[in-house]
Amino acid sequence: MSVPTTMTQTDLAYQQCINPACRATYAVDQTIFACPTCGDLLDVVYDWDRLPVPSRLNEFEAKWSTRLDPLNFSGVWRFRELLPFAPREMVVTVGEGQTLLQSADKVAQYVGMTPGNLKLQYEGMNPSGSFKDNGMTAAFTHARMVGARRVACASTGNTSAALAVYCSATDFGFKAIIFIGSGKIAYGKLAQALDHGALTIQIVGDFDDAMHRVRQVADRLGIYLMNSVNPFRLEGQKTIMYRVLEGLGWEVPDWIVVPGGNLGNSSAFGKAFIELKHLGLIDRVPRLAVINAAGARTLEYLVSEHNLTWRDGLPDMAASQTYYDELDAKHLKASTIASAIEINRPVNLKKCLRALDFCQGVVRQVSDQEIMDAKARVGSGGLGCEPASAASVAGAKKLREEGIIAPSDRVVCILTGHQLKDPTATVAYHGTDQENFEKVLGSRGVHRAGFANRPVVVPNDLDDIIRTIALYSDAGSAGEAGA
Ligand SMILES: *Cc1c(COP(=O)(O)O)cnc(C)c1O
Ligand SMILES: [Zn+2]
Repeated sequence: MSVPTTMTQTDLAYQQCINPACRATYAVDQTIFACPTCGDLLDVVYDWDRLPVPSRLNEFEAKWSTRLDPLNFSGVWRFRELLPFAPREMVVTVGEGQTLLQSADKVAQYVGMTPGNLKLQYEGMNPSGSFKDNGMTAAFTHARMVGARRVACASTGNTSAALAVYCSATDFGFKAIIFIGSGKIAYGKLAQALDHGALTIQIVGDFDDAMHRVRQVADRLGIYLMNSVNPFRLEGQKTIMYRVLEGLGWEVPDWIVVPGGNLGNSSAFGKAFIELKHLGLIDRVPRLAVINAAGARTLEYLVSEHNLTWRDGLPDMAASQTYYDELDAKHLKASTIASAIEINRPVNLKKCLRALDFCQGVVRQVSDQEIMDAKARVGSGGLGCEPASAASVAGAKKLREEGIIAPSDRVVCILTGHQLKDPTATVAYHGTDQENFEKVLGSRGVHRAGFANRPVVVPNDLDDIIRTIALYSDAGSAGEAGA
């Protein structure tokens, strides 16, 4: 690891500790991932007054007409003036960020919204099938700037899939090292890590254990760390919000609803809005809703039961330490079908509190039942998603029922990952194999598959088949029948 140097006055981008009692700054080419002075999280900070920033957001749209330039094709680097930490010749891109803001009126109806007022930002359309690519392109760009070769992450699956793709699909000599908890990764994601040739280290333990180890290993061996403690990743993830605004004709919605795991996305979204407001590119800020799974509800617990808030950068972190000690004492591990958010020690907790503060945020928890039901509704009325993504829709429904979101509000739910990432959960929910349902979902407290679209078993006989089709198409689709 390189020795930190203080930044020089000429730096237009630098790293800065988020702790107001410290505020140490470091040059952008440092590889540190935690403040060497006080240990807190770092931000990438810009000297906006000396940087060329478009005066209006719609100027970014024009870049699409020159999309043969890979930087303008990328849905991340198209917005490069808003994450100006890298020289353009250093950018590592695989064409990420070609994502859709989808209208989904059937899902809107399920959530209780007026048709047209619920949109789904479908980040499953990224090259590796999740929003993580938005962050990876930025972190790999930084890794290239600092000459890193070996790159590592701990992952519940999608970070490792994205990391593996950026190593395999580019030619800068990157070598992927992935840490996963044993038995804790959905098959679609494990398949990607293996297929893309990553060194995959399965340790006995869960995500939080893997995260702890990868930090030690990165430190000891000087390997570049790709988890969302890496502030450069969050710079890339800001662009999800730029694309949401673009999809709305540059209008700011009333709500952004996002699942919360390590809280990188919610932190990045908050930073995006803080900067857009500072730059005068937006005049109002949406409210942010961060949705935890009930089996991994650290943020929700600390915010609702301990009133944990940002407090100008000095949140009462003793509360979180007490909570972690309690979890350890009781040997409690995170547990949810939404494996991408099965995290009890969110590394970006503090930055998320800042985002909640700036965006008048709320936090909720949803059960695995609510997640799987919402996922089935997204599948039947939208592009489909993995369980963790559906937490956003389940959370929006809950906030709607509580009257916090109004039916006429304009709401954007982030669908963080592709439907095919976790076929096990989907097949267990819809399938007829009761034993499999019990094993995958029943064991997690899911009691019914209310929106199951059961496969229909028919003898291999033409008349039987025709009779069955008539029966079901007369009665509406099998999926509407319920359990
Ligand atoms: C990583 C991930 C999350 C959690 O995002 P954080 O930024 O860690 O809060 C949610 N959904 C999916 C599909 C993910 O891959
Ligand atoms: Zn510090």
